Amino acid sequence: MFTQLPSQAQEFMNWNWSQIEPYYADLLARPLDDSTLKEWLADWTHLDDLFHEARTRLWIGTTTNTADVENVTRFHAYLSDIVEQVEPADQCLKEKLLASGLSLPGMEISLRDMRTEADLFRAENVPLATQEVKLSTDYDQILGSQTVQWEGKEITLLQLRMVYQNPDRAIREKAWRLEIERRAVDTAALNAVWKELLAVRSKIATNAGFADYRAYMWQAYKRFDYTPEDCTTFHNAVAEVVVPAASRIYERRRQQLGVDRLRPWDLSVDPTGKPALQPFSSVEELENRTEAIFHQVDPQLGAYFTTMRQEGLLDLGNRNNKAPGGYETDLRLVKRPFIFMNAVGTHEDVQTMIHEGGHAFHTFESAVLPYSQQLEITMEVAELASMAMELLAAPYMTQDKGGFYTASDAARARIEHLEDIILMWPYIALVDAYQHWVYTHIEEAADPENCDEQWVAQWKRFMPGIDFRGIENALLVRWRRQSHIFQNPFYYIDYGLAQVGALQVWENALQDQAQAVQKYRAALALGSTRSVPEVFAAAGATFAFDAATFNRLVGLIERTLAELEAQV
Ligand SMILES: [Zn+2]
Repeated sequence: MFTQLPSQAQEFMNWNWSQIEPYYADLLARPLDDSTLKEWLADWTHLDDLFHEARTRLWIGTTTNTADVENVTRFHAYLSDIVEQVEPADQCLKEKLLASGLSLPGMEISLRDMRTEADLFRAENVPLATQEVKLSTDYDQILGSQTVQWEGKEITLLQLRMVYQNPDRAIREKAWRLEIERRAVDTAALNAVWKELLAVRSKIATNAGFADYRAYMWQAYKRFDYTPEDCTTFHNAVAEVVVPAASRIYERRRQQLGVDRLRPWDLSVDPTGKPALQPFSSVEELENRTEAIFHQVDPQLGAYFTTMRQEGLLDLGNRNNKAPGGYETDLRLVKRPFIFMNAVGTHEDVQTMIHEGGHAFHTFESAVLPYSQQLEITMEVAELASMAMELLAAPYMTQDKGGFYTASDAARARIEHLEDIILMWPYIALVDAYQHWVYTHIEEAADPENCDEQWVAQWKRFMPGIDFRGIENALLVRWRRQSHIFQNPFYYIDYGLAQVGALQVWENALQDQAQAVQKYRAALALGSTRSVPEVFAAAGATFAFDAATFNRLVGLIERTLAELEAQV
C-alpha cells in the first residue's frame, strides 16, 4: 500500500516528477497476479486520483480567476513537468495490466477500452494527431476573428445573435444577413482547413489499418454498442417521425408571429411577444431554489446539492475575471463534483444549473466504484444523467414548490424546453448523416463544392420547416460553423441518443417518480462498468434508434405541450 503518498491533492500538486516517479516505477515493477491485482489497482487508483485532482484543481483556478497569472503559469508548468511524464508512465501500467491477461468483475469494459487504445496506437500517427490539433486551432482562429460593425460598434457574431430576439423583424433580418455575409468571407480559408483535415484523418485511418476514417473513429470512440447502420436507422426514424413534429412547431411559431413565411431570422424571438423570463436576482436565490427543486426530485439528490453548497463546490455567479461558459468536473480523490457557471439571472442559467447538477449527481453516485478506470464514461451515458435531470426537475419549477416561476411562466419555460428537444433531433441527424457521407466518400468530400451539395440535400431532408427560398446560399456557411464537424468528427449523435434515454426516464417518472429516480441513480452508480445499453436498461430505458420509440416519445412530448399551452 502507498502509505507515503499525500492525503490531499493540494499537497500533491507541489510534488515534482522525481518525487512522483518512484510510485509509477514501483507499480511497474511489482509482480501482478490474481492475489495482488486488487491492491495493485487500488494503489494505481490512489496515485491517479491525486494526479487527476491536482491537475483539475489547478485548471479550475484558471477559470475562476483568469487574472491570477501565477496560477496560470503554475498550471502550464504542471502540464509540461508532470502531465507529460505521467501519461507515458500510465500507458506502461496499462500495457502491464493487459499483458497480465488478468481481469476483475467490473473491469471488463475498462480493459476492453485499454486494449482498443493499444491496438489503435501507431507511432506514425502521433505527429498527425498534432497536425490535427493545429488545424483545429486554425479553425478556432478563423471563427474567433469574425466580427461585424453593428450600430457603430465592432461586435462578435455571438453578440450579434442577441439581436435575433429583437421583436422588430426587419432588424432581425438585417442582423442575420450581416452574419451570413461575414461568415461567407471566410469560406475559402475554411475550405483550406477542411481539405487538410480530411487528408490527415484519411492518413490516420490508413496507418491504423482501417478502410475508412469512420471505421477507425468507431473504435477510437469505443462505440461498441452501436454501428453506423444503427445511425442510419436513427436518421430514418428522425426523418419519418420527428421532422413532421418539428414542422408542426415551426408552423405554430409562424402563426403566432403572424408572418406568411417562417424565415431563419424568426427562430429565436419569443413568438408571443412576451419579455424574457427573470427567474432569480442573486446567486443565493439561484442556489436556494435549485436546492428546493432537487430535494423534491429526490431527498438524497437534494442532500448532495446541499453538500456542494456547504463545501464550496459551486461557483455560479458572473463576475470580472471569470472564464466564459459553464461546466461540471470531478475532484477524483475527494470524490466530489464542482460546478462552474456565469449566472446573470436568465432562464438559460436555470437550465444550465439543473443540467450540470445532473452531471454532479453522476460524480456522487459513481463514487462507490473502487477503481478510477471505472469512471471513463462515454458521452451517451454522461448526457443521459444531465438531460434526464432537466426533465425530472421540470415539474418543480413553480414557486409553490420552491422553484422559480409562476404557473404560467413555468409552463412557458417547459414548452420551450420540450420544443427544443424536438427541434434538436433533426439537426443532430443532419450533422451526423452529413459526416457519414463525408468519411465514406473521402475523395469526393475533398472538393468542398461536393460537400455543399451533400449538406444542402441533407438539410432539405431534415430541416424543411424553415423557409430558405432565395437565400439558399446561407446554408453553405452553416456546416462550416458547426465546430463538431471540424473539431470532433462524429460527436453529436451522442446527445440525440442520450435524449432518447432521458425522455424514457421522464416517461417512467410520470408513472412512479420514486422508482424512476431510484433507477436513474442506480444507473449513474454503474460508471463505466457496464455497456451503454446496460446502463440505459438500469435507468429503466432502452438504448433505441427506431421509429417506434421516437413515435412514442414524440407523442408524449406533443401531449404534454398541449397541456402546457392551456396553462400559459
Ligand atoms: Zn452536459
